[in-house]
Amino acid sequence: MFVFIQVALPVPLSRLFSYLPIAGEPLPQPGCRVLVPFGQKQQVGIVVNISDHSDVTADKLKPVIAQLDAQPLFSPLLWKLANTAARYYFAPLGMVLPQLLPVKLRKGDSAEPEPQTFWRLTEAGQQVDANDFKRAKQQARWLAQLKRTPLLADSDIAGLELPRTPIKALQQKGLIESLEQQPLLANDWPLDWHTDDDIPTLNKEQAIAVSAINHAEGFNCFLLDGVTGSGKTEVYLTVIDKVLRQGKSVLVLVPEIGLTPQTISRFQKRFPLPMVVLHSAVNDNQRLAAWQQARAGGAAVVLGTRSALFSEMPTLGMIIIDEEHDSSFKQQEGFRYHGRDLAVMRAQLHNIPIILGSATPSLETLANVQRGRYRHLQLSKRAGLGRPVKQLLQDIRTAHLDAGMSPAMIERLRHHLDAGNQVMLFLNRRGFAPALLCHECGHLHECQSCDAFYTVHQSANMVQCHHCGSMRGIPRQCPDCGSTQLFTRGVGTEQLEQALERLFPEYKAVRIDRDSTSRKGSLDAKLEQIRRGEVQILVGTQMLAKGHHFPDVTFVGLIDVDSALFSADFRAAERLAQLYIQVAGRAGRASKAGEVMLQTHQPEHPLLHQLMASGYPGFAEDALTERQQAQLPPYWQLAVLRAESNYPEQAKGFLVQAKGLLNGLKEQLQLQVQMIGPMPSPLERKSGRFRFQALLLAPSRPALQQLVEPWLEQLHTLETSKKCRWQLERDPQDLL
Ligand code: ADP
Ligand code: ZN
Ligand code: ZN
Repeated sequence: MFVFIQVALPVPLSRLFSYLPIAGEPLPQPGCRVLVPFGQKQQVGIVVNISDHSDVTADKLKPVIAQLDAQPLFSPLLWKLANTAARYYFAPLGMVLPQLLPVKLRKGDSAEPEPQTFWRLTEAGQQVDANDFKRAKQQARWLAQLKRTPLLADSDIAGLELPRTPIKALQQKGLIESLEQQPLLANDWPLDWHTDDDIPTLNKEQAIAVSAINHAEGFNCFLLDGVTGSGKTEVYLTVIDKVLRQGKSVLVLVPEIGLTPQTISRFQKRFPLPMVVLHSAVNDNQRLAAWQQARAGGAAVVLGTRSALFSEMPTLGMIIIDEEHDSSFKQQEGFRYHGRDLAVMRAQLHNIPIILGSATPSLETLANVQRGRYRHLQLSKRAGLGRPVKQLLQDIRTAHLDAGMSPAMIERLRHHLDAGNQVMLFLNRRGFAPALLCHECGHLHECQSCDAFYTVHQSANMVQCHHCGSMRGIPRQCPDCGSTQLFTRGVGTEQLEQALERLFPEYKAVRIDRDSTSRKGSLDAKLEQIRRGEVQILVGTQMLAKGHHFPDVTFVGLIDVDSALFSADFRAAERLAQLYIQVAGRAGRASKAGEVMLQTHQPEHPLLHQLMASGYPGFAEDALTERQQAQLPPYWQLAVLRAESNYPEQAKGFLVQAKGLLNGLKEQLQLQVQMIGPMPSPLERKSGRFRFQALLLAPSRPALQQLVEPWLEQLHTLETSKKCRWQLERDPQDLL
């Protein structure tokens, strides 16, 4: 009898691949990695099961090349999460499982911790008197540090800002020594630590929220709904404290932009316990070390962005998702999961509470509250001194605009600046101008390979396509008529910044967008300038809108809200409302009264009125009713089938056939599922490829699941499916 090893490989095919075992070696367990031959190459795969059956006869199969792990890399719960997620998102296990591992492990590195260099005091070093080192300050710092941290990892030295220069002298004096050893990962943390931090007394609403969460048993999902500054973080810290003192660990997920040094230090000060921080600047080696530490139970808190969701934590006791509505929780390539939704699944599997916090909850989450699945905890007041903000809706239909700003906006800016405050202007378009127009023939300069206009970047003297990234010098002449009269059209952040410098030369402006913060560390440097009050005018895209605390900002202006009101994307209004509330929350956080101004050509628009009159809750209620009537998410289940090809008829042809198959299945299974399309994607041509899509809407999850599983199998057998690139995405956030 033969034994077959079924392996998941990171390829977009929804099947496992069979291999033969290595003769004479013990069989690998499910969850272990193996190196296998695949086509002309070798691939790292993950063993899913061992079977006595294979579709292919043994003489056609190849043996595994090497077994990389003696023990499975996944706990049973995370293994289950991966399987549940693969099924929910219609994704092959081979695309899902590697996402749970650090990049180094996906590439085949060892999962075992490597020995590291540590420093400690020698016997002599322990006896010395610090007073003898008055003149050698740096040596004294080292000795003091090693008294506090008896075993100091060499890799921690930089973080502590300890200079390396005294090492040699201290070694020669026989006071310190180095040793190589396995890092101690599972360092149990004390359960009775003491915090120096001033802990505020909770207000009534905070206390109610804390008590509800503390009394929850098993899986419970809470929506902590409170405006910026209402004290959500304080609630998190209080409930985390209790969980940690029970010896359990906590996973905290924040949006990409929200993991600021202040947030990290707020956690570190409150919990002097081993903590793992995972953000985009953490390199692959550090990620592997963090994974090892968390997996060994050596992290009391894991604080990170989306992918930290998959940290293996043996004693996980609670999950927290801050700013749960934030779009950065959605992965937009490869395995396209939503971090918030998977976190809820994870909490369910672990049978623990999860808290979703937001000032502007997603409509998905609010619908779950409506259905009674999630519990709603509200913080309606700003903690501390914050005051409500004055709202101004500015009609700009006949106004003379200067770089997009109306005279009324400029007047308010001057007022707030002259009062010694900071102001913030928000525009969702980076660059100088979103188009270059020929004054004589009206030609607009378009990207050669996308259906999109070039954005002008004046300081770089380039035009760039924001869809494919291609760049070239700013053209001098119109390609159609040869005219040299080329004008920019529309306003981007770069132009807005220039105009502000011209209008207010006595104040300093800073711009925060993807272009101005692409260099490492430049975002932090700019934020620091703002906090120190060295700049008065803040200009930026939504990067500026998220999570930062600027207590001296008293005025916020939104230059253009109209584009969101007329977008083809049904989520655009929700995003505008969230953005508005978030930026309005930036004004007047401290003791100063704040103002926020929206400029629009649509002053009568019902959404804007609803938002201003009854805030986000009123808006959300209306928007939910609208979604229900239009049979859209969160009430209906949405998936999108996308196809792209160099030849439009191939992509479209595949979708037409897919629709035919779907209609057949729908009839056979008697399901009430709709397919809209195929139609060209809003951005029909990108990087030279033609893109089409079809929307799939189902009244319930089981209906969608029941239909799509057999349908996908049929799709893979279509000849046309091999001629184009295609993918099915569940719960898409963007329909571009
Ligand atoms: P959020 O996370 O909702 O933005 P925070 O928890 O950061 O709010 O609270 C905003 C500010 O108010 C912080 O400086 C915090 O220390 C303070 N704060 C929170 N709760 C209280 C309270 N009960 N009493 C006094 N200050 C508080
Ligand atoms: Zn022209
Ligand atoms: Zn392009």
